[in-house]
Amino acid sequence: MADGEEELKTFKDLGVCEQLLEACESFGWKTPTKIQIEAIPHALEGKDLIGLAQTGSGKTGAFVLPILQALLENPHAFFGCVLSPTRELAIQIAQQFEALGSGIGVKCATVVGGIDMMTQAICLAKRPHIVVGTPGRLLDHLSNTKGFSLRTLKYLVLDEADRLLNMDFEKEIDEILKVIPRDRKTYLFSATMTKKVGKLQRACLKNPVKVEASTKYSTVDTLKQQYRFLPAKHKDCYLVYILSEMSGSISMVFTRTCESTRLLALVLRNLGLKAIPISGQMSQAKRLGALNRFKAGECNILICTDVASRGLDIPSVDMVINFDIPSNSKDYIHRVGRTARAGRSGVAISLVNQYEIEWYLLIEKLIGKKLPEFPCQVEEVLLLLERVTEAKRISLMKIKEGTGRKRRRGEDDDDEIDRHIAPKNGRKPSKKSNKR
Ligand code: AMP
Repeated sequence: MADGEEELKTFKDLGVCEQLLEACESFGWKTPTKIQIEAIPHALEGKDLIGLAQTGSGKTGAFVLPILQALLENPHAFFGCVLSPTRELAIQIAQQFEALGSGIGVKCATVVGGIDMMTQAICLAKRPHIVVGTPGRLLDHLSNTKGFSLRTLKYLVLDEADRLLNMDFEKEIDEILKVIPRDRKTYLFSATMTKKVGKLQRACLKNPVKVEASTKYSTVDTLKQQYRFLPAKHKDCYLVYILSEMSGSISMVFTRTCESTRLLALVLRNLGLKAIPISGQMSQAKRLGALNRFKAGECNILICTDVASRGLDIPSVDMVINFDIPSNSKDYIHRVGRTARAGRSGVAISLVNQYEIEWYLLIEKLIGKKLPEFPCQVEEVLLLLERVTEAKRISLMKIKEGTGRKRRRGEDDDDEIDRHIAPKNGRKPSKKSNKR
């Protein structure tokens, strides 16, 4: 089918029922995305699905809508179950079920690690229609929560299957498959079709229809991508320069390690920028707290590792900065996919030092284009050097002090960050030196 023809499709054309059409409308979904156009009609016909699609494509809607429509016809408890690789993604999926199903009274439980088992057991005892969870915790409940079973399950979704398997959830998934009915519909969504995903597909799907949102790794045309070669020692300075030039825009800064998210957040806060870190090392509560502060606009710069580059539903990011160049080029695609979504424009800037050139060239090869250089005057950037160096010195000292204090008190790392990144006044760093 030609692209033009596809764009004219509405949710109604796909067979979505009246009640859910209203839900889409009130959720602000005017037209279906490509993966929704491809997947929903087959799903409504009762087929199993393999969806090759990434976060940002609208894949959640592609399975939420058909499940809700089937639920409307035959409502009962524990109707559908979604397995997600991460807690954050699970929470976002549950939110979409609740938002789209609010008019039809859908009850949803989220069972993820890092949150009290008892509270979740109480939610399960209320017999929700949908359970969304990470495999380990769901299995834990299936084994230990009295009265909870998925014996009446009609729909199973394996979301981000490639990540589920990369995160070694294979055993848990096998165990879950053993205790749910064989007679069910199964949807498997994955960004990539790996050997392991193929094996899982053969084990749990029946004559599936394969649908795809995009076949190759590509970035959208509304995304302005640039790079800047720079010496490693001046990277912080360039980052501060770019963030100050684009002050007010909503940005994500990607680093390689959890430690650097903390350090960078401290440095930027010290310079009056509203930055907040999020990484796999933080406790679940702190991660969600940070994400919510970012979503609410309290902080406009999110510093994150690749843990945060996929799966998180973060709306309208204006700029992605690759502070560290990913050694796996596909991570680049996932990272920059956080901006220029749904037809909007966005900027992605990669800061490349002398040690990262090879990785950067692999990225250009993967996306099939040579990118333009981010234009700036070195002298102007370096006017910030003294302030940035001082901010870094203070931040390193605080981290060192904090680690010592934390050890003495047995506290967790994030409390230390919170203490040191008490909101500043939001000043832009001045390029003048700050000799006192
Ligand atoms: P997903 O790929 O499922 O994580 O969805 C990414 C974002 O796209 C989410 O914020 C969804 O709410 C949004 N979205 C999904 N479907 C549509 C649609 N048809 N129209 C507009 N936004 C959508």
